[in-house]
Amino acid sequence: MSLKYFTIEERLNANAWDVDVHRPHIRIKDPEKCRKCEKKPCTYMCPAKCYVQQGDYVVLSTEACVECGTCRVVCPHGSIEWNYPRSGMGIWYRFT
Ligand code: SF4
Ligand code: SF4
Repeated sequence: MSLKYFTIEERLNANAWDVDVHRPHIRIKDPEKCRKCEKKPCTYMCPAKCYVQQGDYVVLSTEACVECGTCRVVCPHGSIEWNYPRSGMGIWYRFT
């Protein structure tokens, strides 16, 4: 019997989300800090690519967030307000 191995992308694609559209669980507290943030690590450290650079600023979309907490750790300006989604919302992992 051969085992099937899944790539990270295949595993992520198997997940489901119940997005809390009325209350995003992550927020950028001060966009002006993003403007002055030289390396903008959130834009390349987030595995779900939730942060996208637009000019000097960064746009955040939390729909595909996998709730890893990386963005909160790597932000050098403490500019990210991070909470888990409300109970029952957010990502539903199919693989652990
Ligand atoms: S790392 Fe923090 S301050 Fe820098 S661009 Fe991202 S959210 Fe803004
Ligand atoms: S918690 Fe993880 S997946 Fe969600 S926005 Fe932050 S870095 Fe991206």
